[in-house]
Amino acid sequence: MMEYDIALIKGDGIGPEVIGQAVRALDAVGAAYGHAFRYKELLAGGCAIDALGVPLPTETVAACKAADATLLGAVGGWKWDGLPGGARPEAALLGLRKELGLYANIRPALLFDALSDACPLKPELTAGGLDFVVVRELTGGIYFGERGVEDAGAMGKAAYDVERYSEAEVRRIGAVAFETARGRRGRLTSVDKANVLESSRLWRRVLTEMAAEYPDVELGHMYVDNAAMQLVRAPKQFDVIVTSNMFGDILSDEASMITGSIGMLPSASLGEGSYGMYEPIHGSAPDIAGQDKANPFAAILSAAMLLRHTLKLEREAAALEDAVRAALAEGYRTPDIYTEGTKLIGTAEAGERVAEAVARHIP
Ligand code: NAD
Repeated sequence: MMEYDIALIKGDGIGPEVIGQAVRALDAVGAAYGHAFRYKELLAGGCAIDALGVPLPTETVAACKAADATLLGAVGGWKWDGLPGGARPEAALLGLRKELGLYANIRPALLFDALSDACPLKPELTAGGLDFVVVRELTGGIYFGERGVEDAGAMGKAAYDVERYSEAEVRRIGAVAFETARGRRGRLTSVDKANVLESSRLWRRVLTEMAAEYPDVELGHMYVDNAAMQLVRAPKQFDVIVTSNMFGDILSDEASMITGSIGMLPSASLGEGSYGMYEPIHGSAPDIAGQDKANPFAAILSAAMLLRHTLKLEREAAALEDAVRAALAEGYRTPDIYTEGTKLIGTAEAGERVAEAVARHIP
């Protein structure tokens, strides 16, 4: 039996509820396929501030580094909203990305057939479901560049933020994107603003050079304004999108919206090697915390990404995704995705349905 070490950061609000169900789902996979998952529960976010006075304790970082992967719920909440920037629960996320060297953010945008009603686009644009991935550079570009506010004389104050990418930074995110496309339908769209920005021209040149190393992947380029339009005009044309930190921030939110509820979408943040941190894209949802109303599917699908990317357990990852698909096809819905005629269930029962579906489909 293979054993794997998973660092577990449940966090705040609905974090513990959804991660509880992700663990239940993982254990069902373990039982079905003969793996043991060992969990180490760690504090980060508001609960860490309450217990230890800091959002990201050093022992949490050390334990995350020592594990095979980290699974995180969400951090933050009203209780800590008055704290200044670096002392807030959300500082734990930036700290973890930086400490763990996670430079690639992978967000699959998957519209399950059974949820096509939840998509705001016309049905003919999404017939057969949607399935593409946004690969966003996470630790460079304008969010991390030089910035400042200066006196501009008669113009008053002026502020600036610098977008800067090195060839090495583009190459490492490019490699993640090409590899991701290689494992899927083999189409990669690089999104930039090369008609205006020097940094985008470098980005485009590096991606184009890399294409020679990946003859099985078809590389295309698209300006970001066009990409924003194409995502709602013809989303099925995309397989894998790769883009900079800021463009990715915006486009991945657009992509999540066209696939229905925020409670359905997982993400992975990857660094060198197979290590990764996996988390639903939603926050701690303090408005529904502790009421058994949260949708745990995003957390469960994050666990499926962990199985695939870090543990290389493709069959098990697919089994978990199939189990979510089965629960939806059987009509089970948490409140955020409920429509008339379906069966309303809570967080815990949603996890139970998935675990049951995994057990039913043991190979
Ligand atoms: P949110 O994602 O927590 O909630 C937005 C809305 O979506 C709410 O109405 C919520 O009830 C609903 N929602 C979210 N997840 C859901 C789920 N799984 N099932 C059903 N409904 C769900 O965003 P917010 O309200 O802007 O932020 C709340 C707190 O979370 C803030 O403190 C914020 O900083 C933090 N936050 C944390 C993360 C993270 O940990 N990665 C991400 C975003 C926001």
